[in-house]
Amino acid sequence: MLTGRQYKDSLKDGRKVYFEGRLIEDFESEPVLAVPLQAIADGYDKYYSADPDAVNPLTIAPRSPEELRDRIPVITEMDLLLNVTYQSLMTLLVAAGRLADSAPEFVPRIQAYVEQARRDDIRATECITDAKGDRSLAPAKQSDPDAYVRVVDRQADGVVIRGAKLHITAAAFGHDLMVMPTKSMKPGEEDYAIACAVPVNSPGVHITNTTYHPLGRDPRDHPVSSRDSVPDSMVLFDDVFVPNERVFLDGPTAQAAVFAHSLGLWERLGGVSFMVNQADELVGLASLIAEANGTAKVSHVREKIDEMMIHATLLRAGLEAALSRSHVTPDGYYYPDDMFTNVTKYHGAANFNAMVRHLHDIAGGAVVTAPSMSDFENPDLKPLLEKYMSTGPDITGEYRTKIFHAIRDTTADSYGGWHQVTNLQSGGGLFAQRLVTRKNYDIERARALALKAAGLSGA
Ligand SMILES: Cc1cc2nc3c(=O)[nH]c(=O)nc-3n(C[C@H](O)[C@H](O)[C@H](O)COP(=O)(O)OP(=O)(O)OC[C@H]3O[C@@H](n4cnc5c(N)ncnc54)[C@H](O)[C@@H]3O)c2cc1C
Repeated sequence: MLTGRQYKDSLKDGRKVYFEGRLIEDFESEPVLAVPLQAIADGYDKYYSADPDAVNPLTIAPRSPEELRDRIPVITEMDLLLNVTYQSLMTLLVAAGRLADSAPEFVPRIQAYVEQARRDDIRATECITDAKGDRSLAPAKQSDPDAYVRVVDRQADGVVIRGAKLHITAAAFGHDLMVMPTKSMKPGEEDYAIACAVPVNSPGVHITNTTYHPLGRDPRDHPVSSRDSVPDSMVLFDDVFVPNERVFLDGPTAQAAVFAHSLGLWERLGGVSFMVNQADELVGLASLIAEANGTAKVSHVREKIDEMMIHATLLRAGLEAALSRSHVTPDGYYYPDDMFTNVTKYHGAANFNAMVRHLHDIAGGAVVTAPSMSDFENPDLKPLLEKYMSTGPDITGEYRTKIFHAIRDTTADSYGGWHQVTNLQSGGGLFAQRLVTRKNYDIERARALALKAAGLSGA
């Protein structure tokens, strides 16, 4: 296994990583990259063992419903890159199970790769979303054939790929880019049915970064995003060679969607696990600020917090259902139920804005206008700010201001905006969850009930 220091050094491998147009040679000297780098390194140190046979326990697939459930609190606590790696490896294992009959030649490669990834203690990121060009056109019908990642050359020992994967979480920080087709492919689109693991430092790979990290701002005014930021990336594959042993699908269009479906499931499970915590955190912020404002007993404020609690509890119930109705692959690995994972992700994403609206409605305008913490350090301002931000002997101005900063940072500023879009889009937009629901919902039972109610079933 790697220590945090060894992990940091492992990224000095000639990779082409950019921030605001500049090639970044040293992550530790670039503040927006140094913060996530340290968080990931801390994750390495947390699980490090000097035992040569040890592997990170979080990269071992759950062998029982209980093990699957036990991972959930860990998922929300582990650094995001380790979670993404967990999701990538679980995706490969579930996909291998689904390819066993239709494309068995790829199964041993996938299994060997997963084993090696565990032994090497590497991190892998999920590269699925393509540039996609004109959304109404299939990959092979695009004016630019590279709008979806594709194979441009096949050689005896590997393939050459070209294209781009967009919005990739933490791509610059991993060792491998787990490339998978974003959708099902049709006959004639064989070159787009490509799944493979690409080392980040492969010649031809370029990675840009965007971030909500509050660069140059006082961390105390951004209590969450200053210590918990992870850049998202555009990953460019400019004719990149991938050796055969790292190719997990090449050509069979009928199997192209297997990876996306498996990944979507694990991503949404991760998303739901975060949403459950996030929903509870919103309830907590609403409760604290109502108390600090002196409105905790006002009926409309209580009702809004009740609604937020119901929302948070429904999400938890959906997560519980997804886990308690888990399924098993032919190899004995447990994975959550598709339908419950997806409807819960949908419900959380679709109602997030309404819950934030309640919070903002309860909190008041100081969410965006509260003085900065450095204002409190100015001796002329401090007594005045204390006087006017305080709401009584038990609530100091500084305490109340800190809650406003937490609310702004998580819901109304750069990180808050990122949350709004991410809840909707990550793991696929609402449409993707509607499709899974349509496919899995027991519509026949519903129709039978309706026919019975209408006296048309003959029963
Ligand atoms: C912060 C963040 C992190 C992310 N992390 C990752 C990651 O690590 N790896 C990864 O692979 N992806 C990642 N994603 C990408 C995410 O899965 C996509 O944003 C999402 O699938 C939507 O794709 P898009 O952004 O290209 O939008 P579009 O595809 O343009 O979709 C926009 C809207 O148009 C609709 N739409 C598009 N095409 C059609 C169509 N043909 N028919 C009907 N409706 C259509 C969609 O449903 C959606 O409502 C991340 C996204 C975000 C915001």
